[in-house]
Amino acid sequence: MPWYDGITSKRRILTVFQGKSVTSSPIWSNVVPKAVKDFTDLFNNLKLNVGLALAKPTEQPEAGSFQFGGADIWVEALEQFTFPIAGRNVNLDFATEPFAQGITEKQVWDFGIKDQVKIQVRKAVILMRPNPQSDDFPRRVGNGVLGCWTVHEFIHAVGLTAHTHGAGDLYEANPALRSGKRDDPETDKLEVRGGDKVPPIKTLTGDTIKRIQTLWPKP
Ligand SMILES: [Zn+2]
Repeated sequence: MPWYDGITSKRRILTVFQGKSVTSSPIWSNVVPKAVKDFTDLFNNLKLNVGLALAKPTEQPEAGSFQFGGADIWVEALEQFTFPIAGRNVNLDFATEPFAQGITEKQVWDFGIKDQVKIQVRKAVILMRPNPQSDDFPRRVGNGVLGCWTVHEFIHAVGLTAHTHGAGDLYEANPALRSGKRDDPETDKLEVRGGDKVPPIKTLTGDTIKRIQTLWPKP
């Protein structure tokens, strides 16, 4: 699903608003800004025509149906949250997504003139789990893996919906969590289908890249 024309053809930067549950969390207030940078560095390296930037704390996306102001993407880190955005109350809840590490929902709008129908994305909301725990030890998951999960959700937010199958990348459906050392969460990794371990995030596979290029064509 493409974003609206002004963004895909001119701005090509989506802004990310960090909600209260992110800015007040000692974990997520570090992970989200780093994921914004990692996403943008990765996409620059791959010469993809979209990047991310942090929005100002005053740029919460507007709630009204005909209001387009504020940031493009809104992130919170809670078990459940209702986002008042783009004329809707969007309720995201991990109770209905027990296997997900993040949930992204894109808010679409008909930008068509007169009889023309042109459904495009105008905003996106992302919910991350507040405090993900290791499968192997009674401790939390490291920030590096949390960042990879966040970059995965950002790929949904820039327009992709279906996951990448086969020899995938961190955008495959459920990258396997491989816990590292008991006393060092930062040694945790995600194993993607090709056997690659992230972090660090080195690249994306051809199918993911191709679909991003379709949504964000060369200017
Ligand atoms: Zn996903």
